[in-house]
Amino acid sequence: MYQLPKALPDELLLSRLIRFITISGISSSEFLQTCFGSNRISLHPFLTSGLSSIAKVCNEDTDLLLNEQTLTPLFCFFLPVHARNLQKMIVTNNGARAFRSSQLVSFESGQSLGLKSCPLCVEHDLLKYGISYWHVSHQIPGVDTCGYHGAGLSFLKLTQRQRLIKWLLPQPETDIRYSPLIEYKVANFSTQLLSLLASRQHLNQITEVYRHYLKENDYLTPNGRVRRKAVMQEFSKYIKNHSQTNPAIVPRTQQDYRYVSQLLDAGGSHHPYRHLLFGTWLLGEASQVFSNLPEANFSNMKNTPEIVNNISNKCLKFLKAGKSLAHTSRETGKSRCYLKRIALLNGISLNLKPKTLTQQVIDAICTLAYSGFHRREIARRCGVGIGSVEQTISSHSGLVERRKQCHFQSARRKNRFVILKYLGSHPESIRNDVKQQCSSAFYWLYLNDRAWLEEKLPIACKPKGRY
Ligand SMILES: [Zn+2]
Repeated sequence: MYQLPKALPDELLLSRLIRFITISGISSSEFLQTCFGSNRISLHPFLTSGLSSIAKVCNEDTDLLLNEQTLTPLFCFFLPVHARNLQKMIVTNNGARAFRSSQLVSFESGQSLGLKSCPLCVEHDLLKYGISYWHVSHQIPGVDTCGYHGAGLSFLKLTQRQRLIKWLLPQPETDIRYSPLIEYKVANFSTQLLSLLASRQHLNQITEVYRHYLKENDYLTPNGRVRRKAVMQEFSKYIKNHSQTNPAIVPRTQQDYRYVSQLLDAGGSHHPYRHLLFGTWLLGEASQVFSNLPEANFSNMKNTPEIVNNISNKCLKFLKAGKSLAHTSRETGKSRCYLKRIALLNGISLNLKPKTLTQQVIDAICTLAYSGFHRREIARRCGVGIGSVEQTISSHSGLVERRKQCHFQSARRKNRFVILKYLGSHPESIRNDVKQQCSSAFYWLYLNDRAWLEEKLPIACKPKGRY
């Protein structure tokens, strides 16, 4: 059992391991052999995998290592489709697959693997803790600025396969360059977001968050479409001093509308920096990602099945608890009509004041509906509104299908009668006369009952050539 040095604020797991082999005298191959049963394991700097083995040998908590000392939470948040797989690969010892799950290779960010550090943080850490170390927040791909100081990060390229090297810690530097303000803002946003992600379970999907704030800033049409031109105009203005030109992470031009559309696609996989840049512009503060978004705001938008399910479950919970329709409607933002329907579908009896729709009336409606009566007639006979009749019919399984069938048969009888009546009164007519005189019935039968029509129509005349 090994005892790793205590994690310093925002310290990377690899940094702790480097400090451990530096001060303990245990060699990296000995450490890897004990942890993984092989000394040929290559540890990734910010997506270090094999956490359960490391946690076991070093008596640490796997979840804590995963959430606070690697960049896994950030990747999981921006790549929800790959999140489960990525977490699994990080916990088990599967570095190559974990890296593939992070999708970094496919983003073509063009950056080689390395460790980044801020000269001002190094100075601060040496003064405060007596040692410099690698920060998690500095390792975010695409971010080249310190989120605390705004200074440009130094890059140490990792050329060796083995990254667990004694004394591989950031060195003090005197050359300090400050980055453009926009890059500092993104770095600051990223650092905040990372610490928030580590400390809590996120509830909101990033695409939902974007839509919410786009709507608040009037970037959505009443139909829920994004005003991409206006968005790109403002967004491009905001990032115009950005020094990066890599199209994997910044828009190519102001007309690069796909940049925005892709970020709003719930299943999309994009470089995390794209999200961080766009999020900085739209949200300003990382804490906004976690604020409670009222569900009512999404009523105009394309709801995913999961969201719809969540809302209907919430409604059912209120209704089952005996809450009134008005209360449930206020809490969930759904209409009374919707609530009545799901209550009927789930057999929940509603405690409504005006009790017109008693079981007796419902039974009468169903009987009449089964016999094929028109909705208006049923409503008149039962003394209820036409809406209540429609609702009762649609909530009884099989009734709609039965009525559709009745309607079809009724139309067929009617159209057949029209044709037969015409043929009876015009025995000399030819096919074309029937088609012209009874065109509606003719075409209905032609589409729905062709065999019968062919049988009843006069025999087709042979076409005569032109003289
Ligand atoms: Zn710094």
